[in-house]
Amino acid sequence: KYESYPYERMQKIREQNVAPALRTYYKKPLLLHQGHMQWLFDHEGRRYLDLFAGIVTVSVGHCHPKVTMATQKQLARMWHTTNIYMHPAIHEYAEKLTSLFPDPLKVVYLTNSGSEANDLAMFMARLHTRNFDIISLRGGYHGGSPYTLGLTSLTSYKHGVANGFGCTTTMLPDVFRGPWGGSHCRDSPVQTVRKCSCTEGACLAEDQYIEQFKDTLNTSVPKTVAGFIAEPIQGVNGAVQYPRNFLKEAYQLIRERGGLCISDEVQTGFGRTGSHFWGFQTHGVVPDIVTLAKGIGNGFPMAAVVTTKEIASSLAQNLHFNTFGGNPLACVAGAAVLDAIEEDCLQKNSEDVGTYMLLELAKLRDKFEIVGDVRGKGLMIGVEMVTDKDSRRPLPAEEINEIWEDCKDMGVLIGRGGLYSQTFRIKPPMCITKRDVDFAVEVFHTALQRHVERAAAK
Ligand code: PMP
Repeated sequence: KYESYPYERMQKIREQNVAPALRTYYKKPLLLHQGHMQWLFDHEGRRYLDLFAGIVTVSVGHCHPKVTMATQKQLARMWHTTNIYMHPAIHEYAEKLTSLFPDPLKVVYLTNSGSEANDLAMFMARLHTRNFDIISLRGGYHGGSPYTLGLTSLTSYKHGVANGFGCTTTMLPDVFRGPWGGSHCRDSPVQTVRKCSCTEGACLAEDQYIEQFKDTLNTSVPKTVAGFIAEPIQGVNGAVQYPRNFLKEAYQLIRERGGLCISDEVQTGFGRTGSHFWGFQTHGVVPDIVTLAKGIGNGFPMAAVVTTKEIASSLAQNLHFNTFGGNPLACVAGAAVLDAIEEDCLQKNSEDVGTYMLLELAKLRDKFEIVGDVRGKGLMIGVEMVTDKDSRRPLPAEEINEIWEDCKDMGVLIGRGGLYSQTFRIKPPMCITKRDVDFAVEVFHTALQRHVERAAAK
């Protein structure tokens, strides 16, 4: 196969026939051949530890046997029925998935992508509240559709066409990069190195960020709003965490103004944060709408919106239909993912291995000046690279690229995120082991050491 499509030929096809906005990672992008659990193999059989899980999408492991077998079996029987007939798969899945949610979140809509799920969540919030305005946090990514682009707040994804009517962004309560810091503010085994005036019981930063949130409510939107959307930990922006009670207070303020609270769990769901199955639970809140994608199908294109019966009834006044949403193949994949998470104890593994990794990475932060912050929960980890810990200026892209390419050459794939692409994103398949972490940390250590040597030689 690779003989008829040599690398250079693929590059040419890419230049001429593939959407140019679809950018690849690395100076010479990997040519992948196969995936197995936490590993990816290139066309020459070289093995890579995948710390980015195919963009946080492979939850239980590449080609996990349980998911593969379930989908193969279904593939031979029936791929698709429209939901105008009955089929057990969607019912089994709806029952399994909603059993994992607290009351009253018991109704599921199945879609095909995260953008589509967030589109539907926005639509539902507006329909149910009869309000229009939706607030999101700056730096968030909630989708690339014209509707969700209004919520997405990263310039690199914005296009100069009209979008975002009724969407307002508000200040990101970023414990590391934001102005009010916080050494005790966030829920992570690793705290920031930057000192602030917070103590364990009283978080000053949280109050300041909530004041900013109120400011947005008082200046930028009508008195009543349709909703507020946030991820429990911001993903694309580099595993950004908020002060401990921020979401709880923000939810209350939104509800006082008649709005619904939407938790975007596209990256944080399905046990990835370790201590809880859903990210919102780590904040002690219950949203009105939850959106799911990526890891929900371990790479199978599927997504979901989970909400209450009451909110769902607003959408039942008229027809709402999705051709592929809830097809049997997706539903068996989704059910097999839930089984694998339970049987392989992957939530606990996320907590144990994730905490171990965070603590090991924190040692590198303490050793290297350019590792500004190590943060996250479970296997949702960010490592922010800076010129120095005092200024916290982002490390220049060329320098980060060298470290990143070096890790890849030594067999470890890492994601990138943040406004300046300054944060390494580590969100591996949840089956990763402590031995893998030792290998990855050693590789990262070597790459950092080489950076120090290069800098000294300049
Ligand atoms: N929400 C979040 C938090 C995401 O990370 C993404 C994808 N990066 C989306 C929504 C959109 O998902 P999709 O690419 O499946 O449309």
